[in-house]
Amino acid sequence: MVLRAPEVDLPTQAAIDRAKIELERRLGPSKILTGVDACATYASDDSDVEGRPPDAVVVATSAADVAVTLAVAEACDVPVTPRAGGTGRTGGAVPVAGGIVLATHAIARLKEIDRANLVAVVEPGLITGELHAAVEREGLFYAPDPNSLESCMLGGNIAENAGGPRAFKYGVTRDWVLGLEVVLVGGRTLRTGKRTVKGVTGYDVTALLVGSEGTLGVFTEATLRLVPKPPAIATLLALFSDVQAAAGAVGAIIGAGVVPRCLELLDAATLDAVRSAGVSIDPRAGGMLLVEVDGEASESALMRVGEIASAAPGSVDVLVAQDAAQRDRLWAARRMLSKATRKLARHKLSEDVVVPRTRLAELLARADAIGAATGVRELAYGHAGDGNVHVNFLWNEDAERPSVDRAIGLLMRATIDLGGTLTGEHGIGVSKAPYLALEQSDDLIALQRDIKRVFDPKGLLNPGKIFPSGGHKAC
Ligand SMILES: Cc1cc2nc3c(=O)[nH]c(=O)nc-3n(C[C@H](O)[C@H](O)[C@H](O)COP(=O)(O)OP(=O)(O)OC[C@H]3O[C@@H](n4cnc5c(N)ncnc54)[C@H](O)[C@@H]3O)c2cc1C
Repeated sequence: MVLRAPEVDLPTQAAIDRAKIELERRLGPSKILTGVDACATYASDDSDVEGRPPDAVVVATSAADVAVTLAVAEACDVPVTPRAGGTGRTGGAVPVAGGIVLATHAIARLKEIDRANLVAVVEPGLITGELHAAVEREGLFYAPDPNSLESCMLGGNIAENAGGPRAFKYGVTRDWVLGLEVVLVGGRTLRTGKRTVKGVTGYDVTALLVGSEGTLGVFTEATLRLVPKPPAIATLLALFSDVQAAAGAVGAIIGAGVVPRCLELLDAATLDAVRSAGVSIDPRAGGMLLVEVDGEASESALMRVGEIASAAPGSVDVLVAQDAAQRDRLWAARRMLSKATRKLARHKLSEDVVVPRTRLAELLARADAIGAATGVRELAYGHAGDGNVHVNFLWNEDAERPSVDRAIGLLMRATIDLGGTLTGEHGIGVSKAPYLALEQSDDLIALQRDIKRVFDPKGLLNPGKIFPSGGHKAC
């Protein structure tokens, strides 16, 4: 069951034909895919958004290729959808107007690690996990760690302002991007930002571009901040009778002044999914926290967390990882969650709403109530330290989709009622565009549309994303 694409202007056949001829002339045929099957593989991402297969895919291998593609797109009036790893959850890389997909996965060098200045210079197609491994071999650390890190790419992370379990202590991608090289529609290349931690010259255009979901420009290089690799890491699992008890313990841990680098929460239905995938978990547990601390005093900080968790109402057990292998096993359960829960039904939609941490228990209760009221199976897990919860809706039959849409709408409203925000890391894309006005005023949305027009007056770059379109009745 797919989410219908928004209504957007489509390029004319004559414009597409002209663009293909021009791209082949300027880039050479080996970088342009036009076959139906080849193009179809670039028509979707990890969301249920239905795209329109692109008319051509440019597999760029350099910043110059990106500039040529964006110049041809403007000259021929053909839309362009940038793409990195294709793991996005809201349809950001899905070409809803056909046209050109600009694939950046082959611009993938790690250009530099500067130890003295604690900086890495990367290209957008570099896989996030490969950057982690490379800098850690040098005793350095790049914190943003989306759970898709083995297949997502830095260009996509920057465009979505990706977060991950470590965001609680270390922040999200925006906190790690110092500067960007970006190509605008028409082919103009700009460098934004700086190579230093401090620097306040002019507007913070880098911060604007991070999280712009491929709608303002295409990144061809990023300068990233690094820090020394934390000397030690300690991890524990705290099991609780139910998820409300687990959520209650989150406040107690943070209230005690401990700043874990990760504070992940799983509810009862999620634990059942993990059990069905072969992981043994105490049958008394109906809620779980995975807590990780790092730094010099990690052992004592973890002991403190263990004491707080054991004393919290509803505590069932606390398990401390004794070595790296045990740590990896605890994390394996967390990292396989998405796949394990996907097996529970034919369709799964994962929302990523955020509420102030103190409202976490209320959000979880509201999500359960929404599942019960709509008859849609629901489970929740997520980054509890940030109040960022993945509420997942599961269903088998296409006829259930209207109830799912109702459940999503109720969840979005509940999130806003609780003082939260619609998306903590997946972005608005296509899926959440119909709800933007729940959170933002008409004036703020209009201001953002104006900004979009400054970067892309013809609206050719990633059309149909972020802003609600009249024809989109998706959710
Ligand atoms: C199993 C799983 C777990 C996940 N866990 C997390 C998580 O913990 N945290 C999290 O934040 N997300 C998570 N995600 C979502 C997804 O991985 C992130 O949004 C990720 O940042 C997308 O990166 P990508 O390379 O796949 O980008 P894509 O899906 O290819 O693109 C994402 C967006 O970036 C734009 N884009 C791509 N390249 C460029 C470029 N060079 N210049 C400008 N714009 C560009 C695209 O147009 C699109 O709008 C998860 C997804 C999956 C499938």
